[in-house]
Amino acid sequence: MNKNSMINKTRGKKYLDSLKDGRNVWLNGSIVEDVTAHPAFTGTLSTIERLFNMLDHPEEKQLVGFQPPGSDAYVHSSFLVPRNQDDLRKRSIAFKYWADETHGVMSRLSEYARSLVTGWYAAREQLAQLDPQFSYKIADYYEKARDNDLFVANALLDPQVDRSKGLEDFDAADRFLHIVKESEDGLILRGAKMIATAAPYAHDFLIFPFHKIKEEYAKHAHALIVPANSPGLHIVCREPFTSDREQDHLLSASFDEMDAVLFFDDVLVPWERVLIHGNAEAVWKFRMNRTANSLAFHQTVVRLLSKLEFVTGVAIAIAEAIGVSGYLHIQEKLGELITQVETIHSLLVASEAQAERDETGTFIPALKPIDTARILGSQYYPRAIEILQQIGAGGFVQVPSTLEEINGPISELMHKYFAGATVGAEEKVKLFKLAWDLFGSQLGSRHELYERYYAGDPVRALANIYTNAEKQQYTKPVWEFLQSKSHVKNGSRS
Ligand SMILES: Cc1cc2nc3c(=O)[nH]c(=O)nc-3n(C[C@H](O)[C@H](O)[C@H](O)COP(=O)(O)OP(=O)(O)OC[C@H]3O[C@@H](n4cnc5c(N)ncnc54)[C@H](O)[C@@H]3O)c2cc1C
Repeated sequence: MNKNSMINKTRGKKYLDSLKDGRNVWLNGSIVEDVTAHPAFTGTLSTIERLFNMLDHPEEKQLVGFQPPGSDAYVHSSFLVPRNQDDLRKRSIAFKYWADETHGVMSRLSEYARSLVTGWYAAREQLAQLDPQFSYKIADYYEKARDNDLFVANALLDPQVDRSKGLEDFDAADRFLHIVKESEDGLILRGAKMIATAAPYAHDFLIFPFHKIKEEYAKHAHALIVPANSPGLHIVCREPFTSDREQDHLLSASFDEMDAVLFFDDVLVPWERVLIHGNAEAVWKFRMNRTANSLAFHQTVVRLLSKLEFVTGVAIAIAEAIGVSGYLHIQEKLGELITQVETIHSLLVASEAQAERDETGTFIPALKPIDTARILGSQYYPRAIEILQQIGAGGFVQVPSTLEEINGPISELMHKYFAGATVGAEEKVKLFKLAWDLFGSQLGSRHELYERYYAGDPVRALANIYTNAEKQQYTKPVWEFLQSKSHVKNGSRS
């Protein structure tokens, strides 16, 4: 083992060891004693380990990390408070480098939640108006998370039981996360939160409400940082989509982020991790904080770009592999995919070019292009997958069950019938299996759902864009134009 590879082990190994902390991760009906040893998680954990190790690698650490003032060690750039265009660029490069490692398939590698923490930290003096202790608490957590590579996840939604009922309904209110008691040590909380992507891999959860809460329901209003191993906290995982046959399921085997629901069975959250509580208006201001949101949403668009680039690459490779790239409608569809990539890239560039220093002194990317990209992403990704299906058609199931069969007993026939126009049978089968994993497997279906919903309900998000828009800028020229033509009477000019 050379010196570098020994160094490279350190950070990722430390991270893995830290997950053996007594957390209650429920899978297939029982608690997973050690997530780092369970086959449902090992593939994905080795991906995360590799990403964490980048911060010890001589060149990669400069791409994904920075040295905080007074420190020799590199930490991830999601913790960098941007003060100028170079800092913002540094964050963007780090996000892209990590995203490209999983082709945008793993979306919650903690950079999103870390960016929220960084934004709250940067805005701590302003947010202290909401709670005088906020500033001290967030500074303490930010430094701890930054210097210990904490993996942070988030869960904002109430459990989906009966969406026609809100907090005025006793049963709904009892299921939604609420304070049951205040003790000397902290708050005791009961209820559930959905969805916490990457929950089994996280050290801490950021918990706050997605929707605005009325003041009369203030016991449901809180902003918390909850350790994953808190007694009484149950992390209930969905069915794993991983595979022990990496050669056939390249994405599922290594990039299953896992999604979970969190049950709080009277969980004590210590005061130092209670950022705000009992004040619905303050919690809403915190939730809408521009510094934190623009830093975090920026990461989601960089990651989306990486994923759309990958789908486009797979689609072009398939079109060429089966000799359909010369057909006009295939070219039109591939052009649409490239246009998707260019649009998201342009919005990202616009958000960075229009970045400005906010009232906290943080150089934040412009939110409008970011919001636009996020909304478009919820439409683009399902369309990209649809195009992929239309290009490969039946070819996605014209594959043997395992890759090894290509060179098995009927190898000659396999090579003859599974060959492509520009590639041999083995390459073509690998490519089609990759594409199937991207859209047809359990992981693939989950990804279409993810892109539609991860940023919230796209229907309400679009409606909000309309309701919050400065509508006069659109209607005023229309009325002015009509007024300028008011001399037109009875179809003829006076
Ligand atoms: C794969 C995946 C991963 C996710 N990961 C995370 C995560 O890590 N952290 C996190 O916090 N969240 C996560 N989410 C949750 C995501 O934020 C929500 O799914 C999203 O906000 C939509 O809310 P919902 O699922 O509760 O849908 P619902 O609100 O239950 O909506 C269901 C349907 O009813 C309609 N509807 C419901 N209520 C209304 C209403 N009042 N007005 C109009 N229409 C309504 C919606 O338009 C939709 O069509 C994830 C979601 C998915 C699918």
